[in-house]
Amino acid sequence: MANNYNPYDNMLQVLETAAQKLGLSRNDYEAIKYPERELKVSIPVKMDNGDIRVFEGYRVQHSSSRGPCKGGIRYHEEVDIDEVKALAAWMTFKCAVVNLPYGGAKGAVKVDPKKLSRGELERLTRRFTTSILPIIGPEKDIPAPDVNTDAEIMGWIMDTYSMLHGYAVPGVVTGKSIDIGGSLGRAEATGRGVSVVTGELLKHFNIPEKGTRVAIQGMGNVGGVTARLLYEQGYKIVGVSDVSGGVYKADGLDIPDIQAYLDAHKKTLEGYSAAGVKKISNTELLTSDCDVLIPCALQNQITEDIAGSVKAKYIVEGANGPTTVEADAVLSKKGIIILPDILANAGGVIVSYFEWVQNIQELTWEESQINDTLKKILIRSFGQVLEIVKEHQVTFRIAAYMLAISKLAKAKKIRGVFP
Ligand code: GLU
Repeated sequence: MANNYNPYDNMLQVLETAAQKLGLSRNDYEAIKYPERELKVSIPVKMDNGDIRVFEGYRVQHSSSRGPCKGGIRYHEEVDIDEVKALAAWMTFKCAVVNLPYGGAKGAVKVDPKKLSRGELERLTRRFTTSILPIIGPEKDIPAPDVNTDAEIMGWIMDTYSMLHGYAVPGVVTGKSIDIGGSLGRAEATGRGVSVVTGELLKHFNIPEKGTRVAIQGMGNVGGVTARLLYEQGYKIVGVSDVSGGVYKADGLDIPDIQAYLDAHKKTLEGYSAAGVKKISNTELLTSDCDVLIPCALQNQITEDIAGSVKAKYIVEGANGPTTVEADAVLSKKGIIILPDILANAGGVIVSYFEWVQNIQELTWEESQINDTLKKILIRSFGQVLEIVKEHQVTFRIAAYMLAISKLAKAKKIRGVFP
């Protein structure tokens, strides 16, 4: 991961450009530049060997103008406050683009969860939940899974919050297991959303899905589901990668075979081989010969240094912030079309919203209803962003920000500044 970029500064630059295109006055969007609240906590954990170790955690609430704050919690060794602030702001814009009645937030703990036992991870999660407890809740701020966090971790958050309130509060987190109020379709939602908007993009440019060559960075929850769904729809997945490196095959990889390998090898691609498959690095994956590149790992992956060598004609951002502002300019000059994260990966938070609605109304929806509504929302949002692209002759990224910021500025204006 490139560390010399500040994702929050990246976000501010894009925000500024979009606000100017909209013709907003500084007063209309000044408050959007700052997170409403930043909480930093120290999390003492009793390790299995009896030692006490203290981890650093954060919860940043960027905006509650359009509804409760919403956003995931990531566990990562290199996370810092600027990254969490940027991720929180992106959640605000994401929810506005797809018109969910939410603001945006993000949380993180500076830890490599692979170095912790399951017991240590549970104690860390429960203590972190206790530390951020005063500012979360179904009506204020609803966490969800993100990088390195999963349904089991969401279950510990739900249980800790519920025990301290004296009754079950499923609506405090989304991305839970179905058995405790999770929603059908949530686990696959982000990848499903990425596949829907990729299809819409190709349709707009009159390109058939069948045979379109795709390279995917990341084979976790987002990349793995995206790879499977696109493969099932007839795309040719020529490259995939994870932290251990990547594999490439010009004729198309056997995705079910790779999924079976990942399931049998602790979710790592390391050591995978098959006839005609070439081993490549992550940089080689990002610059590989393909039509559509789908980064589904971390932020700041497509940097200025490699943007000039990207061969894809389309980039669909499954991850949050995978392209730096500098790289974005190089790619746009080359005529590469980028579907931005705040639209492309919104499927996760859309089904999180369905989960929360089911929780607070104490009802359950069918999976088909969930997947159909997810698709409908994404197709509508894609269409609205496309209209702005055409009308203002801007990139998809600027158009998506314009859509988000116009909604946010309007909400702020209607509510006014307190007191
Ligand atoms: N972490 C996901 C994201 O970045 C999902 C957030 C949510 O469901 O609240 O969009």
